[in-house]
Amino acid sequence: MKEEKQASTDHFAAETWDVIIVGAGAAGLMCSATAGYRGKRVLVIDHAPKAAAKIRISGGGKCNFTNVNAAPENYVCSNPHFVKSALSRYPSREFIDLVDRHGLEYEERELGKLFCSNRASDLIQILRTECDWAQVEFALKTEIEKVISQEGEGFRLRTSQGDMRCRKLVIASGALSFAKLKASDFGYRIARQFGLNVIATRPGLVPLNFSGKWLQRFSDLAGLSLDVRVSCRERSFQEAMLFTHQGLSGPAILQISNYWRHGDSIEIDLLPNLDVLSELKAIRQQNSNFHHWLNTFWPKRFTQMWLNLYPAPARLSNAGDEALETLAEQLQRWSLYPSEDGGYDKAEVTLGGVDTNEISSKTFESKRCANLYFIGEVLDVTGQLGGYNFQWAWASAVACGNAL
Ligand SMILES: Cc1cc2nc3c(=O)[nH]c(=O)nc-3n(C[C@H](O)[C@H](O)[C@H](O)COP(=O)(O)OP(=O)(O)OC[C@H]3O[C@@H](n4cnc5c(N)ncnc54)[C@H](O)[C@@H]3O)c2cc1C
Repeated sequence: MKEEKQASTDHFAAETWDVIIVGAGAAGLMCSATAGYRGKRVLVIDHAPKAAAKIRISGGGKCNFTNVNAAPENYVCSNPHFVKSALSRYPSREFIDLVDRHGLEYEERELGKLFCSNRASDLIQILRTECDWAQVEFALKTEIEKVISQEGEGFRLRTSQGDMRCRKLVIASGALSFAKLKASDFGYRIARQFGLNVIATRPGLVPLNFSGKWLQRFSDLAGLSLDVRVSCRERSFQEAMLFTHQGLSGPAILQISNYWRHGDSIEIDLLPNLDVLSELKAIRQQNSNFHHWLNTFWPKRFTQMWLNLYPAPARLSNAGDEALETLAEQLQRWSLYPSEDGGYDKAEVTLGGVDTNEISSKTFESKRCANLYFIGEVLDVTGQLGGYNFQWAWASAVACGNAL
């Protein structure tokens, strides 16, 4: 791949690039190809030895690269209107057309999620090909020590490979999740250096940890999964929930973690889509076995734990209406207090980031500092689970690339 045949340091320093993009991730690659096709001389700088580390490992190695239903409602952002323009100008259909042109094999899974059929690296290859065709150049394994504004003449970057100059600078350096993949706070530091506000960050799409008796109970059930509906702060998601040695995970929990704040409880409906009270009344009337009925929905180990926690007789014939209502409430409104989130090392994304009120939603240029742009996850825009985060990377990158 191109990174092994990188040009010399002198070459990077010899010219003033039209555009330098910091970050060879999803947004950086897409933006560089878009600008390169428009005739701009583009250099992408990254401190990692290879481009697109997150794409490579995402989606269990198959990269959930977009979602056919992507819409503004799928994003968390302090300014919910911000995402509308870029998403409508570059909807998921556009990215699907791009990968179709390259012959990528992919499959649609539940809830509109598109995954590579083979490997995520097939998608990286497509992006690298686009960059090659657009004559984008790469300086990988390059640390940026300082960014200096040249008063209306662009920027000078002091790097481990010497000084590099550009007219326009795009920050596509991502966010804090998965430091082992070279995630850094670079983008936030640059934003602050140029006077932009940064919204406090926290881990998103992350497992939730528990302490005390719940930790022991969930740890005993580690590996079990249930289909549930989890709610918090007026949001709810019906998907699988997984018990782990630290607490709860699985898609339903990752989704709700984007909305959960320290001190909030989460509410779990363990039998979603069921009129549980009516079912319990029918069990009472038919004198059938309540414990066996639970086992038709849950693994036996979970039923056992549940009945230890909330003892109930196998036969409900003597239970009054009030007792059945309490039982239904326990099953459908199980309220729990997570102790903490799983931290950035387990988080797929970072909530918060560069304040979108500081950025043009059309061009992604900073309103305070001309010729400085921010795209992708470094911004205070976070998608739900399901390919929405990559769709944001593509859409923000194309909008910016067309404006450079
Ligand atoms: C385990 C995991 C699985 C995921 N799965 C999915 C999925 O299936 N679908 C989905 O939509 N989203 C998924 N995501 C989220 C998705 O990967 C990100 O939202 C997306 O990669 C953000 O793109 P980006 O270009 O903004 O940042 P990144 O892709 O993170 O790219 C940032 C780049 O900047 C470089 N960089 C950082 N700091 C510096 C610095 N100081 N100097 C130079 N370079 C720097 C990094 O090396 C990196 O190459 C997943 C994330 C993780 C961690």
